[in-house]
Formats: sequence, C-alpha cells, structure tokens
Amino acid sequence: MVKESQKIVAVDQDIPVIDMSLERSRVSMQIVKACETSFWFDSWSSLGCIIEKLGERGYIDLGIPKTATVGEVMAMQRRRHHRTGLLNQIEEEITKQRMCNIAGERDIALWKGEKDSYRNKFVTSETWRQIRNAKPEMEGYKGVWFSHSTPKYSFITWLVSKNRMATGDRMVLWNQHVNTSCSLCDEPMETRDHLFFVCTYSRKVWEDIAKPILQHRFSLDWKDILNYVCERDSDKTRNFIIKHVFQNTIHSVWGERNARRHGEQPSPVGKLVKMIDKNMRNKLSTIRCGGRLTYEDGLQFWFASRQNLI
Ligand SMILES: [Zn+2]
Repeated sequence: MVKESQKIVAVDQDIPVIDMSLERSRVSMQIVKACETSFWFDSWSSLGCIIEKLGERGYIDLGIPKTATVGEVMAMQRRRHHRTGLLNQIEEEITKQRMCNIAGERDIALWKGEKDSYRNKFVTSETWRQIRNAKPEMEGYKGVWFSHSTPKYSFITWLVSKNRMATGDRMVLWNQHVNTSCSLCDEPMETRDHLFFVCTYSRKVWEDIAKPILQHRFSLDWKDILNYVCERDSDKTRNFIIKHVFQNTIHSVWGERNARRHGEQPSPVGKLVKMIDKNMRNKLSTIRCGGRLTYEDGLQFWFASRQNLI
C-alpha cells in the first residue's frame, strides 16, 4: 500500500516533489522523479506550469536556466527576493516543496482518480474524464452512436439529426438561385423532415423496411422516429435492427438524392430496399461469425420481418 506521503515525494537527490497537474502533460499522473521534472515546463506545484505564468522572460527574472530540472533548482543557492509578487510566490513554492522533503523514500508514480484520489492503478476511463472538457449530451445520441453500428451510417445520421445536410431549404440561404426542389419527388422545397420520410419516394423505402418491425409504432415523422430509436427497448435485437436499418435507409436515400442531383438515372424503390436488406443480413452474419452471442436471433428476426410474419 502506498503511503500518503509518498505521493508528493521524489527522493532521488532527496528532492521533494510535487504534484504534476493535468495542464501540461495532459495525463493525470503525479511526478516520478524530480531530477527528470522540468522546472519550467512541468506543472510541479499549485501554480501550474511556470513558463505559462512568466513567459521566456522568467529565465532571467528568476535566474533559472530553461533546461533546469526541479531537482537542480532545489539544490541551487539563489537570490530569493523579487519586486514582483508572482516571482516571490514561486520562490515560496520552491521553499514549500523543499520543506516537504522526506529522505529515503523511493520514487513512485500514482494516477489521479476520482475525487482527487491517487492510486497506482491506471484506469483509462478516469483519466479520460479528467483530460476532456465535458459537454452536454447530444439529444438522440443513443439512436446515432451504438455498438455494432456502421460508422458511415452513424455519421450521416448524426449530420441529419443536427440538420446539417445541404438540403434545399439550407442551400437557398447560401445561394438564392439554387434549385430547392426535392430530386426524388419534385416537391418545391426539400427539407430534412421532407426527405426523412415524408417524401413519396423515401416514404416507400422506409415503409417497406420499417413497418413490419415497428407495426403500430410506425411513423413517417422524423422526431417520432428518432425518439423511438432512442428508447430503451426490452427486445435488444429489435432495437439494434431498427437502429441499423434507420441509419442505412438515411444513407441510401441521401445517396439516391445526390445521384439524381448529379444527373444519374433514378433507382427504383425496390433496388434500395434490396440493398438495405442485404446490408442488414451481412451485418447480422458478421456479428454472429465474430463469435458474439449478442443478437444471436437477429437473422431469424430479420427474415421473419421481411416475410411480414411478426
Ligand atoms: Zn421528395
């Protein structure tokens, strides 16, 4: 068991140390050796990284070389009084750390954990929580990012859920002369909610794919669908399948929309449905072949839905 005192002491050269904060090193690890810790560039005291406080002028003001380690500074005989408050504060930190010196201990490394506790075990999640800036959770993220999802489908779904796609109603804000109509059905104003899935073309694709699974919960309204796919479903297989086909349908409809905008021949609804069906089978087979028992009954469920048996 590591003693409390050990976490602030590095004993090579009997030098006291030192809390290495997150700011510079970007890891929540305490100091290992004072003789290896940069006085200027490591955050070895409560003041943080000294170079960030003083700038390069500090080398002269404190009379400490750029390459000095904490250990070397502790061993130096130097002028102690300055005109500037901050410089005196740094001197106090040096004195304070010197006073904490405990001889004879071995250096150890401790990882900062929750509630500022320290331990010798490294936990990725705890370190990650400390080095990142937490932002509010995205609304509907459970329907976008989930285990076994296909990244390119998730990415496009994320953009659509943020309404960041170049649909007609958004493009006209950048260029008033742009053609804003839906390339799938000629509706004069193409919007996110129209494409997914009010449009007569995309609606047929979504109906064919999702109605057998969603049954009475089936909807063409974007927000209704997003709410549904984010719900915690007791049937995990159904939940996974609906999320996956939802994303795949978005990807396919957007691809068809782009193809038509660039003058390609329109694909019939049946072609998109067939492609989504094939992708779903491949996905479920891949998960099963990977030796995972998750969604073991997925293929059976999917085949049944395609035959309208459930
Ligand atoms: Zn349309």
